[in-house]
Amino acid sequence: MHDGHRSLLTGIYRADSVVWDLHKMMLMPALITGVIFRENRRSYEAFAQEASYLFDGDDPEKGWFNVGSRTMECTKRALGTTAYVLLQALGTDLFADYFDQALRLTRAFADLVRGAEDFELGLEPACNIVCFRYMGGDGHDRNAQQLWLRSQVLKAGNFYIVQTRLRGEVFLRLTLIQPFTTLPMLRDLLDESRALDGA
Ligand SMILES: *Cc1c(COP(=O)(O)O)cnc(C)c1O
Repeated sequence: MHDGHRSLLTGIYRADSVVWDLHKMMLMPALITGVIFRENRRSYEAFAQEASYLFDGDDPEKGWFNVGSRTMECTKRALGTTAYVLLQALGTDLFADYFDQALRLTRAFADLVRGAEDFELGLEPACNIVCFRYMGGDGHDRNAQQLWLRSQVLKAGNFYIVQTRLRGEVFLRLTLIQPFTTLPMLRDLLDESRALDGA
């Protein structure tokens, strides 16, 4: 992320450890996730196991290259290698640009929802997720209406959205993570929802 969005991470410096899901806003394949520790030593504590046949009881930090002492997966592929190689090969600007673009799109979609008389924004998006609901049509059971609408949107096959609850009410929930998604596509999502509700 470029400087404009740094404030989203305000306070992160207080954490002893941070989970980094690189398959979210770092465009990497699923499963690529890291835990970043403030103190290197702590990284050996979380996943330490008793296995005298694997570990010889030496200070695990001395054998830092032995991933067995700080992963849940022991022999499995070191997923961090993919992240390391991509960051080395591509640098960080590409990811920062992508993040900024995703947040711009998120805000533009939130504005679209806010400006539409028959939709309601659940809350101001802080990241790349928008919660909204349809307020048109027969509104005698808004919650059931959203659930029905979501199932119809999935059935139509043009969009994938989920549902969630906010303040006890059902909202549609859209995550903007695909770099090729555009605002006109999202306008279509609103139009499609209107059309499905009227169908
Ligand atoms: C990513 C995410 C999950 C799922 O976690 P994974 O590590 O991708 O399996 C659950 N809840 C929220 C809010 C998330 O962002």
